[in-house]
Amino acid sequence: MANINFIQTSNLFSYTATRCLRNEYYHNDCRICIDLCPKGAFNIVRNKLTLFEDECVGCAGCIGSCPSEALEIESFDPNGFAAGFIHQSDKKLSCKVTTPCLGVFDVEHLAVMALRGGSSIVCDMSHCSSCVLNENGALERSIRTKIETTNQFLESIHNTNRIEMIEEKEEQVDRRALFRKGFEKLKESVVNESEAHISMTSAHHKQADMKMPLKRILLKNSLKEIVGDLETTTFLTTSSLFFNKQINFTTCTNCGDCTQFCPTDALFPTSDKQGIYFSQGKCIGCGICEDICKPNAINAKEGYDLINIAFDRAEELVHYEMVMCYECRTPYPYKGGEPICDRCIGFVKQNPNMFTLARDL
Ligand code: SF4
Ligand code: SF4
Ligand code: SF4
Repeated sequence: MANINFIQTSNLFSYTATRCLRNEYYHNDCRICIDLCPKGAFNIVRNKLTLFEDECVGCAGCIGSCPSEALEIESFDPNGFAAGFIHQSDKKLSCKVTTPCLGVFDVEHLAVMALRGGSSIVCDMSHCSSCVLNENGALERSIRTKIETTNQFLESIHNTNRIEMIEEKEEQVDRRALFRKGFEKLKESVVNESEAHISMTSAHHKQADMKMPLKRILLKNSLKEIVGDLETTTFLTTSSLFFNKQINFTTCTNCGDCTQFCPTDALFPTSDKQGIYFSQGKCIGCGICEDICKPNAINAKEGYDLINIAFDRAEELVHYEMVMCYECRTPYPYKGGEPICDRCIGFVKQNPNMFTLARDL
């Protein structure tokens, strides 16, 4: 049985428990890595996500899909690779040559490579069907979904680059030998990449409680370079890559739970604490705000704006006038009608004679 440690490692793979959304937030039930791992190396132990080190084979298939970058592999940095992709002459991604399992990338990485690489990218999918790690098909499905999402995004902004998939039949080869060869190549390519970016990545990952993933910062930086040339930056549809929120003015109690628990500060209070701002560029779509809101006042909204995302512009979702409740004398967010707070209204309903009796004493 594995212990629950701050950081768990297996071979070259490491899992930082304090970066895991599920472990850090009671309301979050993310299980992406559990569902993806072909070896069942992730398990819930005493309600915490735990890596069973002996089971993990360090394939890296789960890494790209973790929304908060709690998973890493020592020999390959997908952020550094995506940032340095512009310098690569070969635009083909292959688990046999340039990368570990293509699951090491997320949509952000693929989009950054397509936007910065200046041409379409080819993903070699021909090894998936016979891969021992893909027995239940979960890894391949996840990679294909990420490629489709990236292509939908590129199409929406009229970028002509695409992530193409090739499916040529592979020759029967010694997988272990190729894996070793692949890692040797990887080490070379990582050394050749942007040194500045890699040191930024290391610094970022030393901050265990930092939940804003670097892959999203990279994508925002890439968007900054192109938004000026786009015909439109505002889209009215729902995206699997960008998230939007709305708060119902009537039902929100301005309790502040969503701003307090949002892991990336995408939701934050106005300076007078009487309203809530939302920054699309910082939202990772974890759903914690929606799960934590007792009156269900916050939910997803269609549409996104690439300028807002790229430059972290925030939008005020609600703003309240605070007034003194005439019963308990506590300030509360006023929404019209008699100046009495929700708590006192509830109390009055349960004890209809209490206030009349108190006044008459
Ligand atoms: S994918 Fe990441 S955030 Fe989700 S449970 Fe796994 S380690 Fe935690
Ligand atoms: S949206 Fe929900 S959690 Fe956020 S302040 Fe309003 S009531 Fe509280
Ligand atoms: S706004 Fe909500 S969904 Fe977005 S990162 Fe914050 S808690 Fe998660």
